[in-house]
Amino acid sequence: MTPNRANGYDVIIVGAGPAGLCAAMYAGRGMLKALTIERGAPGGELLNTDLIEDYIGFESIKGWELAQKMTEHAKKFGAEIITDTVERIRRGADGRFDVATTRGTTYRAPAVILTAGGTPVKLGVPGEKEHAGKGVSYCAVCDGAFFKGEVLAVVGGGDAAVEEADYLTRYATKVYIVHRRDQLRASRIIQERAFANPKIEMVWNKRVLEIGGTERGTDRLVLEDTLTGGRATLAVGGVFIFVGFKPNSGLVEGHAKHDAAGYFITDERMMTSIPGLFAAGDVRSQLTRQITTAVGDATTAAIAVEKYLAGLRERAKAGVAS
Ligand SMILES: Cc1cc2nc3c(=O)[nH]c(=O)nc-3n(C[C@H](O)[C@H](O)[C@H](O)COP(=O)(O)OP(=O)(O)OC[C@H]3O[C@@H](n4cnc5c(N)ncnc54)[C@H](O)[C@@H]3O)c2cc1C
Repeated sequence: MTPNRANGYDVIIVGAGPAGLCAAMYAGRGMLKALTIERGAPGGELLNTDLIEDYIGFESIKGWELAQKMTEHAKKFGAEIITDTVERIRRGADGRFDVATTRGTTYRAPAVILTAGGTPVKLGVPGEKEHAGKGVSYCAVCDGAFFKGEVLAVVGGGDAAVEEADYLTRYATKVYIVHRRDQLRASRIIQERAFANPKIEMVWNKRVLEIGGTERGTDRLVLEDTLTGGRATLAVGGVFIFVGFKPNSGLVEGHAKHDAAGYFITDERMMTSIPGLFAAGDVRSQLTRQITTAVGDATTAAIAVEKYLAGLRERAKAGVAS
């Protein structure tokens, strides 16, 4: 089958989470001809978040509602958002990008802003999906404040798990770190901080079999001892799962610099090591991943794209090849 080709765009934005929608809004205001390609409903992780209380200007807002407001705002400035899944992004010899989708269209543009986010790795145990957003969380900074005075469990043993457990003790009366081995993977300094925190208790050699609770929320974990196979129940008012986060960075053909976990490394313009390919939001290597950081990245990326395209036009006028 010969793929359809769609030219004439200044920039293609991949993903319509907070970063993609913000980039689309700025691109529209900058009079760029931009296309945003989203595989599902616009909103990204906002659609998996019940309540947001840390997005400045909105003391408390439902995730779906913020998604709707962001989408409407982007569209008000002319955002064109289509439903399709991007399968591959490739920079051609002429410096323009081919963005190929599942529906068989290849969109072409001189710049791409990749805002495809990532996904927290799930435990895949009974009760996890049912209690997501009602006692099961993947983000301590986002949800910690909802658990004041509770006893919590953190599942995992890497840097993120141990750092977030430490963070959660601001709110919780006690935090168990449930880990399947008898030692942590987290760096020494992070471990020492956790061991010195009287509110943290280690639960070694335990695997989570089930997350239990009622309609009102999580109230227990069913654990299995990884050495003896024995089972036990741990009473908790919430569980935070940090067993990994997978960035959606595998769409790019050719090498773009990334960190050990696969997040794109960018310069201060949000440009990756591939000229014209920008990355913003959760897919980018950075200290923290929040809605505010995603839209901040996207603002920079969209404005940087305008300047990048102006540079290309100058070079073309001067007869310099891209
Ligand atoms: C459960 C949970 C609760 C959270 N709560 C908060 C909170 O309270 N406050 C806060 O600040 N942050 C919170 N966060 C973090 C916040 O949601 C993210 O940092 C933010 O959504 C990142 O935005 P993004 O646009 O970079 O990525 P995402 O929101 O992940 O959006 C990426 C988009 O790209 C699309 N996409 C991916 N691949 C493709 C493809 N191949 N083709 C087309 N489209 C594609 C996805 O469908 C998605 O819509 C939470 C995260 C989670 C998981």
